[in-house]
Amino acid sequence: MAWGTHCVDCYPGNCVFSVFVKDGLVWREEQAGIFPVVEQGVPDMNPMGCQKGAMWSQMLYAKDRVLHPLKRAGERGQGKWKRVSWDQALTGIADSMLDAIQEVGPEAIIHDGTPSQGGFMAGITLGPLIGALGGLNTDVQAEINDFAPGLYLTFGKFNPASSVDDWFQSELIFIWHRNPVYTAIPWYHFVAEARYKGAEVITVAPDFNPSAVHADYHVPVRPGSDAALALAMCKTIIDERLYDAHFVKEQTDLALLVRLDDRRYLRARDVEDGGREDQFYFYDGPTKRIVQAPRGPLTLGELDPALEGTFEARLKDGSSVQVTPVFALLRRRLEDYTPEKASQACGTNPGVIRALARKTAARKTNMLTGWNAGKYYHGDLMERSLCLLIALTGNWGKKGTGIRSWTVGMFDGHFIFSAKTKAGPEETRRILAMRDQMVQALKAQDPTLTDELASVELARTMAGLESTVPPVFMWYYHCGYRENWNRPEWSDPAMTRSFDEYMQEALSKGWWMGSVRPGEKTPPRVLIECGGNYLRRLRGGQAQLLRHLWPKLNCVVTVDWRMNTTGMYSDYFLPVAHHYEKTTFHIPQPEVMYLTLSEAATPPQGDSKPEWEIWCLLAEKIQERARARAFVEYADGRGQPHRLDTLYSQFVVDEKFRDPDNVADEWVRDTVVAGTLPEGTTLETLREKAHVRFTGLGIAPYSLGQASDVKPDETFAPFRWHVEKGFPYPTLTRRAQFYIDHDWFMEAGEELPVHKENPRMGGDYPLALTSGHNRWSIHSMNITNPIILETHRGRPHLVMNPQDAGARGVDDGGEVRVFNDFGEFFIPVKLSPSVMPGQVICYNGWEPYMHRGWKDQANVEPGMIKWLHLAGGYGHLKYWPIQWQPVQVDRSIRVEVTSVNGREAR
Ligand code: SF4
Repeated sequence: MAWGTHCVDCYPGNCVFSVFVKDGLVWREEQAGIFPVVEQGVPDMNPMGCQKGAMWSQMLYAKDRVLHPLKRAGERGQGKWKRVSWDQALTGIADSMLDAIQEVGPEAIIHDGTPSQGGFMAGITLGPLIGALGGLNTDVQAEINDFAPGLYLTFGKFNPASSVDDWFQSELIFIWHRNPVYTAIPWYHFVAEARYKGAEVITVAPDFNPSAVHADYHVPVRPGSDAALALAMCKTIIDERLYDAHFVKEQTDLALLVRLDDRRYLRARDVEDGGREDQFYFYDGPTKRIVQAPRGPLTLGELDPALEGTFEARLKDGSSVQVTPVFALLRRRLEDYTPEKASQACGTNPGVIRALARKTAARKTNMLTGWNAGKYYHGDLMERSLCLLIALTGNWGKKGTGIRSWTVGMFDGHFIFSAKTKAGPEETRRILAMRDQMVQALKAQDPTLTDELASVELARTMAGLESTVPPVFMWYYHCGYRENWNRPEWSDPAMTRSFDEYMQEALSKGWWMGSVRPGEKTPPRVLIECGGNYLRRLRGGQAQLLRHLWPKLNCVVTVDWRMNTTGMYSDYFLPVAHHYEKTTFHIPQPEVMYLTLSEAATPPQGDSKPEWEIWCLLAEKIQERARARAFVEYADGRGQPHRLDTLYSQFVVDEKFRDPDNVADEWVRDTVVAGTLPEGTTLETLREKAHVRFTGLGIAPYSLGQASDVKPDETFAPFRWHVEKGFPYPTLTRRAQFYIDHDWFMEAGEELPVHKENPRMGGDYPLALTSGHNRWSIHSMNITNPIILETHRGRPHLVMNPQDAGARGVDDGGEVRVFNDFGEFFIPVKLSPSVMPGQVICYNGWEPYMHRGWKDQANVEPGMIKWLHLAGGYGHLKYWPIQWQPVQVDRSIRVEVTSVNGREAR
């Protein structure tokens, strides 16, 4: 028996399985159920697992597994391959990379960012090699679009994540923009257990989905109208004075003063010579004076800032101006959101809106959101409205409360490794000391900085200097999306100028300095996909990429264990070892708080190899070919020098790291040095029990942003340092910020949360196409397995209301054409009254090749982005990896559906 888990970003995953081996074959796996109780009175995490996890051994020996390196032998996508040796494949790839560098520059080499199905030892470890060449790693966040822009705008970080057992501590659970019965199978039991304890569960969704079945209330909303519903709840809470005034004044910007002449915050630069741009003001009730709002800590002490009223502020030129708190402006904005008015927008009964508001104000409320809202064009407004709701009711920074997203972190050894120049703990201590010096230097300049703020500051400073780039510029210049984004009828009518004009303004003002790579004159030449499925995942998919990007590429490489759609259109296919065939870790994060090991139960089949070994071989080959071509030195587009004759030794750091197990062990030991794993933890100790609980947040800004102590005997709730200690947030105002006085946000009328109708992306068609992960496959890799296929219809389908279907002559099981101005695809229909009329649902995860003509739903998704997310030059509106950047949206695409060989329409 060996320990196994499935490192496929089945977020949060980390389920431990016992993997049974006989005669050299894995013949089954079983949930291990080995997790202890963390907090007395709170259920443990066992048994942990899902139906996909229970059949990975079938995938190990599946027929679509590729076991030898392949080279394309026909046209791309034609399905003709020849088997080649590793040496032949890597020579071809290395030469293509060198050609790209010599012809265009190293930025023509693109490694698509994905969470990687091999886990933490997989695609992510290719990043430093690409960086050493001067190539680009596209930001995983924009690629997968699990971003929460509204949370980022509010908190300066998008990623609060409580441990899943903390859900049990809630008194009221909103399942809003999420369907955990499908997507959080191992963790859903905490919702059910909280309900047994007395919590109420409310699902807010247009459809009566499988999570709604187990809720106390299902609250239907029209797709895309959630902000109207949430803002009406906020209005009820304010009107009935149910809000937590102290929390609002201390933790949010709602007490900060805004000038009534230009609607900007009153800043120190307005009132004194040399005043700070980021010093803001309160009106202090007891002393009746305008005073500086603390920049940190936020604790109010004797201060009691006003939330209402109009006051006079004296400016540095001697004139005066009227000012009012943000809260007063919010009240005015909310006049448009009486429950009756909001009901017209969102379809929810006004009485229900009031009842929900009162419940939220009275209970420990957990906003169990997923990453659905952020996939709406105005998802940021929805999320800002949800954040406002929990801000008014004081619902974060305490157990059982908050709003959810995702994060990585705590496994610091992994972050440290790429900075190491030699093996061993001394080098680790040197790197940590260097980082500490930088943090201390920042703190010396600004003593109000916490460790979190200093590490975010470092990350924001480094962004633009590193190899990780937001992919928006590649999409704009090289993937044909510029044309779609410039179609005003598919965008928000609040855009008064063309998309190009906004883009030009963002570039000319330097808001994306250093990140505009590959630039307009740098066509991509080499694309490496490891663990993802670019042609399925990217909105617009094959329709957009095969037409615009693929012709520019001289070499497309897929690194995977199975032939997926992107693999079919690649030039080389490199086979990797599967889970159960290599040492790897699941993505570590606070939801489970454990570092979880997956070990090699059997050797890799055929010629497949662990990813780390492949990258070492590739580094060696590039070095060898560079020497042979006498091309060993060059500068990238920013003048940074790169050497190829020492590439391999730089990459591998130490020959002992050629063995992936030694890398894994070094990561674990370095994490102990960094202080987030218990003393004495090694790869060997992990082999004994497969998991170890983290003891601290460590040094990465992502985990430090959770801002809470990790206690050995307590569930984990983020943001406690903000609430309990007054630690500032990494926003412009140092508070949860609801008022964004950036020029573009003012122009768009989005300085405060507001409800806006979803643009008619795709054209003026009557149905709204929505999506979400399906029950049988979080990602496309599981969906082709025969066992899984036999548990359902076994093919893609569109879920549709019988009323809409009847009007179009569509029968259950009949095939339809789904189309709009962007494209079309064909799919059978499943009729269900659980879907709201006017909505059609196509759960994603199907391989495009499972559809007729290999056309999936991406063929009707134009891949729009919201122009406001290009805004910069303003406090926290600055790119840093996996944070502020535009991401494509795909919810509520406008489509029409017609029957193919169906009945006559009624
Ligand atoms: Fe758990 Fe993911 Fe494996 Fe399912 S696939 S059992 S969620 S680790």
